[in-house]
Amino acid sequence: MNASHHPGDDLLVSYASGSLDEPSSILIATHLSLCPVCRGVVALAEGVGGELIEQIDLSDIGTSDLDACLARLDEPEEFVGAAVETIDEAVDDAISIPRPLKDYLPGEVKSLPWRWLGPGVQYTAIHTEAKAPKVGLLRIAPGTKVPMHGHTGNEMTLVLAGGYIDATGNFQRGDVESADDGLVHQPVADAGEECICLVVTEGELQPTGIIAKVLQPFFRF
Ligand SMILES: [Zn+2]
Repeated sequence: MNASHHPGDDLLVSYASGSLDEPSSILIATHLSLCPVCRGVVALAEGVGGELIEQIDLSDIGTSDLDACLARLDEPEEFVGAAVETIDEAVDDAISIPRPLKDYLPGEVKSLPWRWLGPGVQYTAIHTEAKAPKVGLLRIAPGTKVPMHGHTGNEMTLVLAGGYIDATGNFQRGDVESADDGLVHQPVADAGEECICLVVTEGELQPTGIIAKVLQPFFRF
């Protein structure tokens, strides 16, 4: 089943140009493994980038600048294109973790160092070279209501297993929800299956309800 919620085109273009931060790139690359629509957008963006380079008047550039530029083009891009080439390898874990994400995990999902955040909710951080944003996996028991919360920065959530619903829609495997500081929501995991999400967070989550305030530790990733 194809994803029905996608990251914004601005993120896909940043990813295609190699300028997106590492944590966000992990999420975008993972989404691309699951979404042919966005793979098409990224391929288009990469093609446009190549055409722009061809249109540059080379006489305006000194030889050394040109050599440096060409050398940069030859450098392997850690993220660009990687996801597009590894689609068929996507399913090779009990929870079907796509390769771009699997490469960052030290072991099987179930054996990761999960930390209790609240009733039915666990979190494990994923280490990257970037200090921010933070990236990690959330594991939510079937039917769990995550406390109502807002955000102090952008947050991206990609569903890997199970699903959840909030006021903005229903999110299933491959779907990406983008939240900014205007969104206050209470995700509820689907019944019957554990929900596992990849989450990239820029700011802190802001608990808004009484229960959320009691569960303050929940919001400190
Ligand atoms: Zn997509």
